[in-house]
Amino acid sequence: MAAYAIPAPPVTTVPVLGGEPFPVRRIYCVGRNYADHAREMGHDPDREPPFFFMKPADAIVPTGSTVPYPPKTRDYQHEIEMVVALAKGGADVPVEKALDLIYGYAVGLDMTRRDIQGEAKKMGRPWDMGKGFDQSAPCAPISTVKKVGHIGKGAIWLKVNGEIRQKGDISQLIWSVAETINYLSGLVTLGAGDLIYSGTPAGVNAVKKGDKLEGHVDGLTDLAITIG
Ligand code: MN
Repeated sequence: MAAYAIPAPPVTTVPVLGGEPFPVRRIYCVGRNYADHAREMGHDPDREPPFFFMKPADAIVPTGSTVPYPPKTRDYQHEIEMVVALAKGGADVPVEKALDLIYGYAVGLDMTRRDIQGEAKKMGRPWDMGKGFDQSAPCAPISTVKKVGHIGKGAIWLKVNGEIRQKGDISQLIWSVAETINYLSGLVTLGAGDLIYSGTPAGVNAVKKGDKLEGHVDGLTDLAITIG
């Protein structure tokens, strides 16, 4: 066993359908990647290149969990997203090679303390405490490309207590998954174990204690969490 000054922190993993768990290296998130959501947040979707923020790897929460309502917020919101899991990394990955990096896909939630994020925007401060807090990244089990192929279209929706809150189609992504990988890999070197939350369609809204959230992307395993 390697010697460390303190016990080594555990590796965060996401279950894989019919396989060994997927070890998470980094979590990247794309901002405003559906036109209707960009508009609901007060932006013009047509003129903006993609932009990114991050969550810590250990923000992952497995499906079936009760997620505690986080501290220091009164506006804790859901963002349903398709998550892309990378088997390989690279820098400056061309669009036509980008899909070769992908291990699989999953349904995820980019949980957001909207009031803290809004304050950060107003003050020109970082988004980290609005986006990258504890247990802010629920993620359902990963379906491998081997089993389900690549997901370029199909319904994405979120229900809260059985009612549809968000609904869109993966084909409506402003920056496709391949374009996103191409752009992001120009900014940072991607690595095996990276997850990319690909953005949310319109309908983001607040949740409260006791709410039951069900997330879906056609072809993938649903995500279910309860707010505790
Ligand atoms: Mn998001």
